[in-house]
Amino acid sequence: MTQENFRNTVNQWLDNNFPDELAHQAPDAADAAQLEIWETWRQRLAEAGWGAPTWPKEYGGAALSHDQATMLREEFSKRGALNHIPILANMGVTMVGPTILDYGTEAQKKKHLPATARGEIAWCLGLSEPNAGSDLASLATKAELAGDQFVINGQKIWTTRAHQSQWCGAVVRTDPSATKHNGISFVMLPMDQDGVEPRLIRLISGSSPFCETFFNDARADKADLLGELNDGWAVVKRLLQHERQSQTGTVKRPSIIQQEPLYERAKRYLQMDEQGRLADADLRTRIAENLMQENAHKLTVARIAAEAAGNPKVSAAASILKNSNTIIRQAQAELTLEIMGSQGLYWESSGDNPGEEELAITREWLQGKSASIVGGTFEVQNNIISKNILGLPETTQKNN
Ligand SMILES: Cc1cc2nc3c(=O)[nH]c(=O)nc-3n(C[C@H](O)[C@H](O)[C@H](O)COP(=O)(O)OP(=O)(O)OC[C@H]3O[C@@H](n4cnc5c(N)ncnc54)[C@H](O)[C@@H]3O)c2cc1C
Repeated sequence: MTQENFRNTVNQWLDNNFPDELAHQAPDAADAAQLEIWETWRQRLAEAGWGAPTWPKEYGGAALSHDQATMLREEFSKRGALNHIPILANMGVTMVGPTILDYGTEAQKKKHLPATARGEIAWCLGLSEPNAGSDLASLATKAELAGDQFVINGQKIWTTRAHQSQWCGAVVRTDPSATKHNGISFVMLPMDQDGVEPRLIRLISGSSPFCETFFNDARADKADLLGELNDGWAVVKRLLQHERQSQTGTVKRPSIIQQEPLYERAKRYLQMDEQGRLADADLRTRIAENLMQENAHKLTVARIAAEAAGNPKVSAAASILKNSNTIIRQAQAELTLEIMGSQGLYWESSGDNPGEEELAITREWLQGKSASIVGGTFEVQNNIISKNILGLPETTQKNN
């Protein structure tokens, strides 16, 4: 099918299936009537296999190429149509699912992938621990085999939406006598059991999307071990590459800052000169620089995707793209606040009745700070780039 035909097919499908009232909207938990429409939309997306469009059809996807998936995203974006299945599935579509595709048995793929691609189950990730973040291989949560099950004890932290997830992909120590990277395994366990207790952590942005998650004799079926016993580090490395890939800006999440180009927002808030340009020349230059960086980033994403065509493996380049996307998005948020001046940085307690847009932008600016931490920090990505791409010697950790 030509690119044009494919785009036409997507648009015809949207004509027939996308509820107009959801255009440029995101699900609002407080609006029950609207949630019913979102549910109808979810079912239609799931039927088309467009929740996880590049996955094989037998596992709930639509077997699209990466180019077609990009076109699908672009056509959805032009309509303001949000594909909310990857959001519903939490870490399922972007991280755990692709790793199951890479490492799972046929039985695991059939058991876990279709419901994930339909947005019917959400996955959280139990990686970080209070004493194991960047140095993840120091993790201490233990899993011991007892018959057909692993018994898990320990604590994870920063588990995004653990309280709303049905499944957890957890990295656990299965051989305490082995060197730290070698005695680790990756298990998948149901969250709805007595031995799992997620506790909410409240953040600076006012929301609580994270949990500390405690495992107290929690159970995972031996059949839900992903990859080989004690070889979970290989699985984790692949999963983290998928995570970085999802943070390169190729997976679109609703963003109030990105909804309007900086120069358009500037026109609404700031003075123009007699030539219709932004009067503040310094700010104008920085906005132009950000726009150029954003375009260069998009072209680099497209070039790397084209170079990788036919090779479905994610590459270390995801670390470069994750860092460049972070720099560009954080600069965009800073520039947005600067443009808004005294109308930026609103909070509920500001007392002068801020508008919804101002509040949402302040929250997104704060939330964006986490981009240089999540999925491996900015500095850790630079270590990976120096070692795996530039070939420089390891100076920080052994065996990564
Ligand atoms: C939005 C968000 C969502 C998250 N979701 C999850 C989740 O769902 N599941 C999960 O398990 N975890 C999650 N995390 C946790 C995340 O993976 C960790 O925060 C991250 O790996 C860093 O670990 P840390 O916080 O322990 O910081 P540390 O590892 O303690 O790092 C502290 C500082 O030291 C620097 N540093 C550390 N080691 C090196 C080094 N070798 N070289 C140079 N600098 C170094 C770091 O760059 C950082 O600046 C999430 C985090 C965020 C922000």
